[in-house]
Formats: sequence, structure tokens, C-alpha cells
Amino acid sequence: MKEINASEFEQIISSGENVLVDFYSTECPPCEALAPKLEGLEKLFGEEIKFVKIFRQGNRELAESLGIKSSPTLLFYQGGEEVCARLNGGIKRSEIIRELKHIIGKEKVNSISSAVEPTVTQVDVAILGAGPGGLTAGLYLCQAKINTVLVDIALPGGNVSTTHMVSNYPGFIDPQPGYMLSHYMSEQTKRCGTTYKVAVDVTHVDLDKKEITIDGLETIKAKRIIIATGTSPNKLHIPGEMEYKGQGISYCATCDAKYFVDKEVVVIGGGNSAIEEADFISKFASKITIVHQFDKLQANKMAQEKAFANPKIKFLFEHEPRAFRKEGDKMLVDVEDLKTKETKTLTTDGVFVFIGLKPNLELFKDKLKLDQWGYIVTDEDKKTSIDGVYAVGDVTSKKYRQITTAIADGTIAAIAITKEIG
Ligand SMILES: Cc1cc2nc3c(=O)[nH]c(=O)nc-3n(C[C@H](O)[C@H](O)[C@H](O)COP(=O)(O)OP(=O)(O)OC[C@H]3O[C@@H](n4cnc5c(N)ncnc54)[C@H](O)[C@@H]3O)c2cc1C
Repeated sequence: MKEINASEFEQIISSGENVLVDFYSTECPPCEALAPKLEGLEKLFGEEIKFVKIFRQGNRELAESLGIKSSPTLLFYQGGEEVCARLNGGIKRSEIIRELKHIIGKEKVNSISSAVEPTVTQVDVAILGAGPGGLTAGLYLCQAKINTVLVDIALPGGNVSTTHMVSNYPGFIDPQPGYMLSHYMSEQTKRCGTTYKVAVDVTHVDLDKKEITIDGLETIKAKRIIIATGTSPNKLHIPGEMEYKGQGISYCATCDAKYFVDKEVVVIGGGNSAIEEADFISKFASKITIVHQFDKLQANKMAQEKAFANPKIKFLFEHEPRAFRKEGDKMLVDVEDLKTKETKTLTTDGVFVFIGLKPNLELFKDKLKLDQWGYIVTDEDKKTSIDGVYAVGDVTSKKYRQITTAIADGTIAAIAITKEIG
């Protein structure tokens, strides 16, 4: 891809051509993950749209004047004007193609894309999920010289990367920001030589054949598969939840608490996550109302004591949310008093939902033996009910789901596989 500077940028844009501009940085894992996707797309669509990249730090003034705050950021231009949505963070191939369709046209994009020959890659081990469990398995396998590929639908790091502070991971005297801890884990595994395929669409998984297809194009055939897909936040499944998700309703305090400086928020839940995250949100918000279905919290004693001592946090016990609505900038939360069955409405600036997690198994749950809560059953070596398929971390049936237990699982599976095929 051609590298340009700020003055060349002005020239190219004013020429009126179709242009895709990648504002990138060095030492930027999402930029590294994006680069091969852009190169592949330039080969396909280079005749229709110019692909250029600009080093963001070296062209700071231009980047700031365009309001670019993170790397990578993709901008699209047509006829000298910026068009389409800006893309940033862990950018998927499918997202770029979606935007290209607006510029080049759906039919042309589909006809060019259909000419692409699918590829097949053969590896020893394919790991689905690059959270602590998958990254640790990748590290051990790589150090045992086993050809391993790590596949993730997002950027590496898993749930740790969205945890504000981790204070119980051994080896660090002070609490570590979750995104830094996951960055260290990811870089350690990557530097060893493990291949990363991240921010991809996992379009098909055949556990019996040990095949994983990504972006509908590339099939990875493996001798062993490790499932390390972790968990996602449970949804309340009440009216308004999906409608206002990301527009007033959040499932991630680390990502969104900063938008609620001096504002009021409602937190739904009463377990460890809800109480610890409410404490974090209180650094920003002026008032937090915790809505919990039971008459006492489920969080550990230390977290509870901290929350009760926090003057910004109030509690509404034995209430459940029934619907979310919006009035202007305000979120309205209809809550039912579980004792009197009466409903009242809380008016707030934002809502955070922390009501537990569910295993990420949509692509293959019918094939595997699961426990009564839907988590994958494994043996001591982390083998599942399918020969050659292992599972590690939070997605598995276990009592305690922590970073340390996920990395322990990753270690065990990797050593067991090394003994089999190493
Ligand atoms: C808010 C919060 C705070 C926490 N705080 C702590 C703490 O302080 N200390 C602690 O020890 N633990 C904490 N935990 C728990 C800890 O984060 C988890 O135990 C740990 O991250 C589990 O690691 P994992 O690798 O099993 O899964 P995850 O971290 O969930 O990673 C799974 C990965 O799989 C990917 N994935 C999902 N579906 C697919 C698919 N179909 N194909 C490919 N990839 C896929 C995801 O994108 C993700 O990157 C916290 C959890 C949360 C939610």
C-alpha cells in the first residue's frame, strides 16, 4: 500500500478519486492485524479505489484536524468528500467490504469478490479464542515448536482487555490495567511466533474434520483444535435493551464509564462484576443506583464493604428491570418491586448491565457434551467429548472462572497436545 504524507493527502483527495486512507501507528497490534487484510483487498479492488496509508504520529496536525483519535482509523473518500462510516480498532475484512459497496457498488464488489479462490492452510493446532486461556495455550505450543494459529473474532485479550484493573494476577505488585495485562500476554505469545488471525469472521467450524473457515475464504485444517472462546455478558431480554444497546445501555464499564462524568447511572446486578464495576463507574458518575433482584448482594465481602462505604452508590434491592425507554437524552428504566409487584420508572443518563455471563458456543454447541448450564465438559487434560478437540478457560464446565484458572487450563491442554503430537 502506498505511504503518503499530509500534502500528498490533500492532492489525492482533491483529485476526486475513490480513496481509502489508513491512519496507522507503529507498535499498534490492531494496525498490524489490519495490514494484511488491506493488502489483500487492494489486490482485489485497487483498480476501483486507491489504497493509501498515513503514519498518524508523523502527520499529527492532519490527523488532529480530521478528528482522528486512535489507530488504525480508516477513512473513505469519493469525489473529494469523506463518505461512509469511519472504521477503527479491530477492523474486520467484512466491515471494509461493507463500506466499499457504498462507493463501488454492491454488484461490482460481489462480482470481484466471487472471483477469489478460497485458500486452505494446514497447521498442527488451531486455537479459537485469544483470551488468557487461548494465549497461554498458544505460548506453550509455540515454545514446543508446534505450528499453531490463534483465531479470534475480536482483538486478542478476551475479557481481561475490558477489565479496568486486575489486582489478583500473580507477578505484579500493583494492580494492572486489564488492557495492559492482556497486551503483555498477547505480545509474549506473538513474539514466540504463533500466527494470529484476529478481528476475523469465523464463518464455519467443523470439529469432527478439525476445520475452521474464516471470512468465508480461508480454511484452516488442524490436527487438534482448542476451544477458548470464553463468555459474553448475559442480556436481560426485555423491551428496549437491543434498541438502546450502545446508545445508553452498556455491558462494559472500562469502555463506557468515561462518558458519564458527573452523570447519573443505573447498574443492574449484584454479583462481583456489578459491584466492582459500579465502584469503578463512581470515579466518573455523580450517582449510581444498583438495581438488584435479591435482598442482599452476591458479591464478595470486600467488594460489598467498599460499595456500601461509597457515598455515590445507592441500592434498590428486590427490584427487577422490565423495560428501557428513552426520552431525549435520558434513559428511563421501568423497574418492578418484586414484593409489591408495583412498577416505577427511574430516570437516568445511562445503564450498565452486569448480570452474569454465557459461554460463547453458538457455532458448535450441538456437537459437544455440555453441563447443565451449557458449558463444555472436559477431562483432566482438557479433552472434550470429540476426539482431538480440547477446551480451556471460562467456556468450560468449572467452579471458578478467573484469569489464573483460564491460563492453567491453557497450559494443561498445550502440554497434553505436545505429548500427543510434539
Ligand atoms: C468485568 C469482568 C471483570 C473481571 N475481573 C477479573 C479479575 O479482576 N481477575 C480475574 O482473575 N478474572 C477476572 N475476570 C474473569 C476473567 O476475565 C476470565 O476468567 C478470563 O478472561 C477467561 O479467559 P478465557 O481465555 O477463558 O476467555 P475470554 O477472556 O472470555 O476470551 C475469549 C476470547 O474468545 C473470543 N471468541 C469468542 N467467540 C469466538 C469465536 N466464535 N471464534 C473465535 N474467537 C471467539 C473472544 O473474542 C475473546 O477474545 C473478569 C471478568 C469480567 C467480565
